[in-house]
Amino acid sequence: MRPARALIDLQALRHNYRQARALGGGRALAVVKADAYGHGAIRCAQALQDEADGFAVACIEEALELRAAGIRGPILLLEGFFEAGELALIEEHGFWCVIHAQWQVDALERSTRSRPLKVWLKLDSGMHRVGLSALECAAAWRRLQAMPQVEVQVLMSHFARADELDHPYSGEQAAVFADLNARLRVETSLSNSPALLGWPQLRSDWARPGLMLYGANPFDRAHPLADALQPVMTLESRIISVRELPAGEPIGYGGRFVTAGPTRVGVVAMGYADGYPQNAPNGTEVAIDGRTGRLIGRVSMDMLTVDLTDHPAAGLGSRVELWGRQVRIGGLAAQCGGSAYQLLSGLKRTPREYSDA
Ligand SMILES: *Cc1c(COP(=O)(O)O)cnc(C)c1O
Repeated sequence: MRPARALIDLQALRHNYRQARALGGGRALAVVKADAYGHGAIRCAQALQDEADGFAVACIEEALELRAAGIRGPILLLEGFFEAGELALIEEHGFWCVIHAQWQVDALERSTRSRPLKVWLKLDSGMHRVGLSALECAAAWRRLQAMPQVEVQVLMSHFARADELDHPYSGEQAAVFADLNARLRVETSLSNSPALLGWPQLRSDWARPGLMLYGANPFDRAHPLADALQPVMTLESRIISVRELPAGEPIGYGGRFVTAGPTRVGVVAMGYADGYPQNAPNGTEVAIDGRTGRLIGRVSMDMLTVDLTDHPAAGLGSRVELWGRQVRIGGLAAQCGGSAYQLLSGLKRTPREYSDA
């Protein structure tokens, strides 16, 4: 069997969840959208089920998958319903529902329910993607409150730039939010991972950690709290071929790397079809049998090449970590001009193996 694996450490997931909730100071919904950022939503939700205050997903399809797997407790639909036809299923399964647009308020008003639907109302405090303006929000809250078929629970908003630790925008968004809530005085939900880690003063009742649950640093630099998280996924494979090349030989597609001297090259069964970044530059960090090494040559669909010249003990079958406990994904993403979000949720083909001890 091809040796590429994504090892998923569920203990680490629980550790990170506890950290997130402690930082938020209140309750925390574990965000497991996009198949738990590539980690497997069902297994991750099962591992967190006994302690998480609830889960959040992007759409009803993801929520139904969790319910079908036996996940009880609150599941929040972060974009609510995409069409009113979903409301019957939302009610049946007791999903919580974000309301972010006027048309959703209208659709709720026209609907009838046998038990009230739990609703979180979303304020656009500056992200300008979804959410109602402060003025619309106050009116919508009152309208929703008057509907017997609705129980409006929480006022929420989302940060656009919480990963930029020197930028004042998060504070400005929080001020817009606080201003509205000074009038409504209701339960609140604000913080995503970068806000929990980087803006601890911006508290709310319900945190919504995603990326940090998986142990990745959302910032483009080292950060003590983020770096103390435990990476949940280790992406690894093995060396399937070794060759010795003299100086001046190009390696792989496009000859992007040319050997400067005699070079021992290891071929690893991992490529961009697995989700490893195709644009990883020469010199990108890998770990070879636990020792720091480097990628050389362009990443292909199913294989990539590493420099074994300074790894005399490594050879056929040696284990290569592409990201995980040793090669931190935040640093890798920064080297490749992407984000940990993108790398993790882009995992493909590689089978996942779970450990919980
Ligand atoms: C994805 C998402 C989150 C989680 O964000 P992270 O940065 O991964 O912690 C929180 N809230 C909303 C509305 C989201 O869409």
